[in-house]
Amino acid sequence: MIVLGIETSCDETGVGIVRTEGGAVALLANEVASSVDEHARFGGVVPEVASRAHLQAMVPAVRRALAAAGIAARDVDAVAVTAGPGLTGALLVGVAAAKAYATAWDVPLYGVNHLAAHVAVDTLQHGPLPPCLALLVSGGHSSLLDVPDIAGPVTPLGATIDDAAGEAFDKIARLLGLPFPGGPHVDRVARDGDPRAVAFPRGLTGPRDASFDFSFSGLKTAVARHVEALERAGTPVPVADVAASFQEAVVDVLTAKAVRAARERGMETLLLGGGVAANSRLRALAQERCDAAGIVLRVPRPGLCTDNGAMVAALGAHLLAGGAAASPLDLPADSSMPVTEVLVGS
Ligand code: ATP
Ligand code: MG
Ligand code: FE
Repeated sequence: MIVLGIETSCDETGVGIVRTEGGAVALLANEVASSVDEHARFGGVVPEVASRAHLQAMVPAVRRALAAAGIAARDVDAVAVTAGPGLTGALLVGVAAAKAYATAWDVPLYGVNHLAAHVAVDTLQHGPLPPCLALLVSGGHSSLLDVPDIAGPVTPLGATIDDAAGEAFDKIARLLGLPFPGGPHVDRVARDGDPRAVAFPRGLTGPRDASFDFSFSGLKTAVARHVEALERAGTPVPVADVAASFQEAVVDVLTAKAVRAARERGMETLLLGGGVAANSRLRALAQERCDAAGIVLRVPRPGLCTDNGAMVAALGAHLLAGGAAASPLDLPADSSMPVTEVLVGS
């Protein structure tokens, strides 16, 4: 069975195609067009700009994906689309396109949850996924989820109470004069810095804080104060040291809580997903702490961590293989779709 997946929740127009092979799912195509450059001068994603870019990129991306997979439209057995959460106008473009393709090709349509898709994508690289604890970290989310089955309901254990991890990376990058989106730039310059140069605060990690929630706004303020104080004193800002110390504070909290959550829930596997999972220090520290705790770490390659259509196709394929009923053709785009809802209409 072949599933085509469409992703337009933020600034990436993604179209992926996968094929189910027995219990496994194989990747055939993964076309991503990003409008990120158009948002750079605003320092953040502008919803109207993203929606318009999706409209322009959608049909060409589907054509490119079909060509890359070496299949014809009539070979597609189901269409999956991100129904939420995300930017309403952006989601609407993908949902409308998916409805049109599913109707024209006369195949079932699956409206799926973006976060569940970030989990499902790992099966394209590492095969069937056992029950796991998932840490999803991106520009819009920082969540810890208990995932017994990728095609079934998940239990949210914690999430950010203010900024998302990627948002914090992007804001600190801006403060340090690095380009948008800042995550990859902070990652790069931090390699030449000392992560112990500045002891930045670790939010929600006090002795009495047993929660699995995250907070990055206090850290962001602490970095801003530190940089302002240096500038007032006329001291050059050691960008690499500040970037490395900031990054260490973020990944220390993320990995400590994720490993503790996995242990408490009796999970033998920890999965990282979302754009921030591309961070080299997060991957290294997670590996170190998982090894020490006897937990298996699974992290998709960076190109599958950031938003893409293959992740949506992968989740659609698992739903189809599991015999899930299709979503109604009038399914809505739901900007605040709860993480507990994996499939619209189920
Ligand atoms: P959503 O939150 O809806 O998934 P998004 O566009 O933010 O949308 P992604 O494409 O998964 O989602 O992630 C982009 C984010 O990941 C940005 O904030 C970016 O700075 C961050 N990011 C990407 N690479 C790295 C990296 N190497 N280190 C840290 N952050 C990174
Ligand atoms: Mg993005
Ligand atoms: Fe995402």
